[in-house]
Amino acid sequence: MSLNKKLTLSFIFVVFISIIIISFISNKMINDKFDTYLIDERNKKFETIKENINELFLQKGSNITSDDISNYAKMEDIYIEIKDLKDVMICNANNKPYHRKMMNKRMKNHGKMMNSYSKDTSGVYVEKTFPLLQNEKQIATLIIGYFDTAHLTEAALIFKNTLTKSFILSGIITIILGLLISVFLSKELSNPLINITETANLIRNGNLNVRSNAKTSTREIMELSNSINYLAETLEKQELLRKRYASDISHELRTPLTTLKSHVEAIMDGVWEPSYKHLNILMVEIDNLTKLVDDLKNTFQTFEGELSINKTLFDISKEMKNLIFLFTPIFKKEGFKLNYSIEDNIKISMDKDKFKQIMYNLLSNSIKYLDKNGEVKINLYRENDYAKIIVEDNGSGIRDEDIPYIFERFYRADMSRNRNTGGTGLGLSITKTLVEAHDGTIYVESKLGIGTRFTILIPSNI
Ligand code: ADP
Repeated sequence: MSLNKKLTLSFIFVVFISIIIISFISNKMINDKFDTYLIDERNKKFETIKENINELFLQKGSNITSDDISNYAKMEDIYIEIKDLKDVMICNANNKPYHRKMMNKRMKNHGKMMNSYSKDTSGVYVEKTFPLLQNEKQIATLIIGYFDTAHLTEAALIFKNTLTKSFILSGIITIILGLLISVFLSKELSNPLINITETANLIRNGNLNVRSNAKTSTREIMELSNSINYLAETLEKQELLRKRYASDISHELRTPLTTLKSHVEAIMDGVWEPSYKHLNILMVEIDNLTKLVDDLKNTFQTFEGELSINKTLFDISKEMKNLIFLFTPIFKKEGFKLNYSIEDNIKISMDKDKFKQIMYNLLSNSIKYLDKNGEVKINLYRENDYAKIIVEDNGSGIRDEDIPYIFERFYRADMSRNRNTGGTGLGLSITKTLVEAHDGTIYVESKLGIGTRFTILIPSNI
């Protein structure tokens, strides 16, 4: 069932049930109160009639006639009789047999209608006696006779009938109004949802540049629409990245493979001798390929969000000195200097392997870009709540226009030189991801021909 239909039906159902409950409760309460109200009213009327007749009797005494009292009898449909103190009738109006006949006739005429509305249509004839007084002394007796329930039922029926009619009428009006409101409300709710569903279906079918433009004032639906759009945007970005990545990788792999192929072909064609020197060139290309594959593996891990960080608390000062100890012979072999200034006892919570990888990337980069009299200086010290690592070299430096891009994947500043150094353009992007995974920051300052300085800040508030 569509949301629209469901909401409309639920709304009408609620309206319908409310009307039934309200009618039921009001009917019940009115029924309870109404009879007492009518009895009170009747008693009040009888009281007034008695007062009037008492006054009339005081004026006329036993000369009072039926005509004098018949007006009251007719008006109220009752039997009136005045008796003296010896119980002898002085006059009456609407005498009993006539009254009874009249009431019976009326009951027959209305019987059908009454039956359908009231359980109690057979009125019981009742007489009430009132003393007629003069100076607080009884001088005669007034008898008022009436049909008890018939009189009540008829009035009550008319009232209840009107009440039922008004309930039905207001019910119909409410249902129509409810229908209109529910149609409007459910449209207001379901239209944006339909729009969002359509967008989601398009996204599912691979159309990633669609966006939901659902217009709604409902906060939750607005949030859903924004989430769908955000999802589509993320998917689109990832898809773009994936495509760019795939083309970058194939491009990166093609160059060393082409070199290898042409060299192998040269050997096969006898143009090149399979000498140590030539095979070594092949070996260097294979090494480059191996490095590229290793870097790709690392990048994939960070790219796919599979980077697992196992933080441990360790003395980074000590670890840094060990690392420098390992790198010193490599620097020496190339004729470069590796100096350092390390503040002792800096504790840090970090993944030790990732720390080594970061340092390895920075140090091997500096070796690549050092020239004669090359020198690298490592600084480590505490600054506020951070451990600050500085790796500074006096190598080739980076051109100003390249600086903003060197942390991007596959970005290599100086292509001609990089080809020789065997760089993949992935090292710094991996380094940056690793630093940021530890809530740290990395930035670079460099001057072409003068040198490069990488600064890393890692939180260390221990
Ligand atoms: P690569 O594997 O090519 O070194 P990186 O991501 O590590 O890739 O570095 C990106 C680019 O930044 C390099 O191609 C190089 O041009 C530049 N670069 C990085 N480190 C240095 C440095 N210490 N001195 C000069 N240039 C550097």
